[in-house]
Amino acid sequence: MRKKIVAGNWKMNTDLHEGLELAKAVEEASQGKKRDAIVIIAPPFTHLAKISEVISDVKLSAQNCASEESGAFTGEVSPAMLRSSGAEYVIIGHSERRTYYHEENVVLNRKMRLAVSNGLKPVFCCGEMLEEREAGVLFDVIKEQLKVGLDGLSEKDIANVVIAYEPVWAIGTGVTASPDQAQEMHRFIRDVLEELFGHDVAASTTILYGGSCKPSNAKELFSNPDVDGGLIGGASLKAEDFIQIVNAF
Ligand code: PEP
Repeated sequence: MRKKIVAGNWKMNTDLHEGLELAKAVEEASQGKKRDAIVIIAPPFTHLAKISEVISDVKLSAQNCASEESGAFTGEVSPAMLRSSGAEYVIIGHSERRTYYHEENVVLNRKMRLAVSNGLKPVFCCGEMLEEREAGVLFDVIKEQLKVGLDGLSEKDIANVVIAYEPVWAIGTGVTASPDQAQEMHRFIRDVLEELFGHDVAASTTILYGGSCKPSNAKELFSNPDVDGGLIGGASLKAEDFIQIVNAF
């Protein structure tokens, strides 16, 4: 059985007080509920340690990590620091990091290796731009992101990796991939994982959909056989909306 996951990526939103309130509201709505899905929140770095004190059912993720272990890298935050602040997961390769901070597949691979060797569970994002979809190269783009991004990871490492398919044209745009488009790409991703790591790994890896997922479309998206949950941006900033998405399972 694959793990179902709904993860909220808060991006650069909320001050510490607002973040604590939001985390508490999500925790309160989750506590004691017997759910199929693991609920994760990814607040900004500055909130992690405090938020780790107010959640227990809800799991904690960072939104990024450094590609180096430690040292003279001003402004960076290492996987070990994240672990010691209470994070269990880390988002790596979000399209906003790829686009605005020019993080390419090779550097993302370094982050992946470092994250797993420090005991973090990476949520590895992949996704094509609209031009790439229109040019018909979407599958090549995703395959390359996976091949390079996951290079050198062992089967044991991959057991702790979650993949998020996030078509760039759907992130924060209000345009959602259709359930068929999502299923088609998730199936393809599973096939690539099979090619790279074998059948068992492919069958047991959780693959999330991300891109304008909201309470009104979550159920339909999650009902696809290869869609194991969602990475949620905008809709994770309102506890009620986020919990409604969690309840779509
Ligand atoms: C995201 O940033 O990972 C995301 C999916 O954003 P949104 O849900 O706002 O499209």
